[in-house]
Amino acid sequence: MEQLNAVQRVLSAALFAAEKHATQRRKGAAAEPYVNHLIEVAELVSAANPEPDTDLVIAALLHDTIEDAGVTEEELRERFGTDVAHLVVEVTDDKLLPKEERKRLQIANAPNKSARAQVIKLADKISNLRAILSSPPVDWTERRKAEYFDWAQQVVEGLATPNPALKTEFDRLVASQTRSATEPRQ
Ligand code: ZN
Repeated sequence: MEQLNAVQRVLSAALFAAEKHATQRRKGAAAEPYVNHLIEVAELVSAANPEPDTDLVIAALLHDTIEDAGVTEEELRERFGTDVAHLVVEVTDDKLLPKEERKRLQIANAPNKSARAQVIKLADKISNLRAILSSPPVDWTERRKAEYFDWAQQVVEGLATPNPALKTEFDRLVASQTRSATEPRQ
């Protein structure tokens, strides 16, 4: 097969992710297609780096394929190369573990993530916080939302070298959640 250029590789990853997550929706009331989340994370990652890093953008598009769509590391390596496959593995939770343990491990393992994996982690958390602010799951109480924000903050605080622009956006979202949670309802 002829060598693909960067744009072709990114679009091929976007199509692969869209197909793999085709039946999945976001948990919020608006139930957006899951691919919206993947494109948002990839866009954040792309905007965060002044130097283009095509593999990192591709890994952002694919970041949930192993965890949520049953794709294997081998398949990612064959289609998108070793670098991309490693990055996705680095941001993948072990689904065999109970949810609480996975959440604890995200905090414990945050300091050991590579600089590039940290960019995906932070962009993923930004996308999730935005989703909770704009379209929270219907059965989530204010307390449940606050707990998610607390946990996300603990993960992000553990990142050794968070991207400054993404960290600023993350902190802005946390501040807006704190405000909306403490302000009396009109
Ligand atoms: Zn994600």
